[in-house]
Amino acid sequence: MSEGLLQKFGSFSPVGDLLTLIICILLMHLLIQTFITKDSNFKAFCGMLGFVALAAVFDLIFHTLLASDNMPVFLIYATRMISRFCLFGTFILYVYYFGNLLELPKKTKKTFNAVSILISSLLLLGDILGSVFGYGFTVDYSSHSYTGGFNFLAIGLLLNICILGFMLTRYKERLVFQILQGVMGSYVLCIIIHIIQGLHHQTSFTISIFILPIIALMYLLHSNPYDTETGAIHASSFTKMILDAHSKNRELMIISLHVQDFDKNAYLLRDMHSMVYNFYSKCVKKGTLFRLHGDRLVLVYRIDQNPNYEETNRALVEAFTPLYEKLKLKFKAVFVKSESKLSENNSYPDLFKYIEPKCEPNNFYTVTEDDILNFTRRLYIISELRDIEEKMDLDDPRVIVYCQPVFNVSSGAYDTAEALMRMELPDTGFLFPDMFIPVAEQTDLIHPLSLIILNKTCKVIHNMLENGFHVHRISINFSIQEVRDENFCRDILRIIEQNNIPYEKVAIELTESRNTTDFNMVKAKIYELKEKGILFYLDDFGTGYSNFDRIMELPFDIIKFDRSLVIESGKDKTSEYMVHTFADMFHKLNYRVLYEGVEDTADEARCIRMFAQYLQGYKYSKPIPIAQLENFFSKVNISPL
Ligand code: C2E
Ligand code: CA
Ligand code: CA
Repeated sequence: MSEGLLQKFGSFSPVGDLLTLIICILLMHLLIQTFITKDSNFKAFCGMLGFVALAAVFDLIFHTLLASDNMPVFLIYATRMISRFCLFGTFILYVYYFGNLLELPKKTKKTFNAVSILISSLLLLGDILGSVFGYGFTVDYSSHSYTGGFNFLAIGLLLNICILGFMLTRYKERLVFQILQGVMGSYVLCIIIHIIQGLHHQTSFTISIFILPIIALMYLLHSNPYDTETGAIHASSFTKMILDAHSKNRELMIISLHVQDFDKNAYLLRDMHSMVYNFYSKCVKKGTLFRLHGDRLVLVYRIDQNPNYEETNRALVEAFTPLYEKLKLKFKAVFVKSESKLSENNSYPDLFKYIEPKCEPNNFYTVTEDDILNFTRRLYIISELRDIEEKMDLDDPRVIVYCQPVFNVSSGAYDTAEALMRMELPDTGFLFPDMFIPVAEQTDLIHPLSLIILNKTCKVIHNMLENGFHVHRISINFSIQEVRDENFCRDILRIIEQNNIPYEKVAIELTESRNTTDFNMVKAKIYELKEKGILFYLDDFGTGYSNFDRIMELPFDIIKFDRSLVIESGKDKTSEYMVHTFADMFHKLNYRVLYEGVEDTADEARCIRMFAQYLQGYKYSKPIPIAQLENFFSKVNISPL
């Protein structure tokens, strides 16, 4: 035979297969670089690319053999069959990938996979038998020709598109419309190329059309996760990596680097990129760097790959020191080992924010077990606070009113008290305010708690008044941020009215605000409530900042001298004179003075010398459940409300 079979037909060029092979290698490289978690999607992609690449290689061999003289027919059939086998394998993987992507129930996924395996196997078998029985691909050396026969591959492609089309339309609500459109578009393109190639009696691009949907999927669903400025990976991939490691029970070391004004200094970004990258790749085996937001970089590495993680961290610190000195960075670095309670919902970004105030500037901090315990308790408290806000039950049993009776110097009796909040949560038990009030204030969840305290206190006032107790009023603490809420006055008046008690039985304690912008608004709200008869206490006078002009401008009735002033006044004569002078001034301006934290008779005597109208402190009573207030208050002649 002088000429190969290929010459007879002249319809094949190796360009298509070579291009396919190159694209597969390129895509494989991209996959390895950009897939942060080597999950089942990653494996499916690798499988698909591997199959298409193999199909291209065997297609090339097949056509080369076909074009050569005196090649054993068996080899021609075998290489063609392997190439077909790989393409049918790709069909199966497409279906497997979409089953994962659409998060189909396990059973449904299995059914789809089984159907695609069955169809592909039958078609492949049909193709092989076609060659045996003559209705498929056959080579005839005697006439120097071959016939394509029945096109099982085209049927496979059509059926595959039908299955995927069915999956995508049946579960379309599980995928964004644009993605659906993009994926289906790539399949339509496949069919068009196949038809055009058929019209031109070509077979060169049969294999290459199989990579189009892969490219579409990689771009639409798994596009570049890198931050182009730093080379770090985006935050969403961080969550993915944490959840993936959690599901595989894999321990991670997570290191946060918070650099002040990192995103404002463009020159830092350029320098940091290569330096940070070089620095950590020297110390850590297979670390991944993420950029969580503007100025936080997080380095994650696997502990099983770096078992001496303490040493690794030490090396990191050593390598980082000259770097930050050179760049004059202001940073805080936090090291934490993954913990399943934190990994579950990826709470690390919040953990870093919680820990950083504890870390000295330009220093490194290793998170302790206690830190994690405190932090998870805080998360739990926040979730309970959210639940309280959502349910908004004014009798919520988780919020408890304690009370401290206040001694009235002129009447010599207890007729006022301060309501103090406590909480009782299923997992933590009884909680003091320092455990939850700062958290509630930071998360803007304090107002519902205050309203519950107000409601429960009003109820007790109502009952005590009905039982003939002489209750002048009970003061309730509000945070200044609550006053800013536009519904503040309405909420308070509504609850007092619902409990059917006079407005003046409730007083409000506020601590000064340093915020100058909302001063007038706060003032207006205070006046509105004061008009109804509600008294106002200035809480914690003497702590930190005291702006007399501002205090005088707000219509406070009672000034609460903080316990620190009571202690201070007991130190020496000069200190007593100072506190005495303040008290004298308020007294002369018609404010009433209350001393907080009076613990013994000496405190009491001194406070009385310093114009005390009211005294509050452990000397009289520690905070008690509000139901016990009756033990302190006296009964007067029973009179109706
Ligand atoms: P505060 O308003 O200054 O409350 C007085 C605190 O001093 C109370 O602490 C009380 O138990 C404590 N105390 C009273 N007498 C003495 C004493 O003789 N010696 C000493 N060493 N301490 C005394 P508590 O109940 O732990 O409350 C702490 C803080 O939590 C309160 O300080 C207040 O700022 C906040 N808080 C409590 N309840 C509420 C509330 O319902 N709403 C808001 N926004 N804050 C509240
Ligand atoms: Ca108070
Ligand atoms: Ca106070």
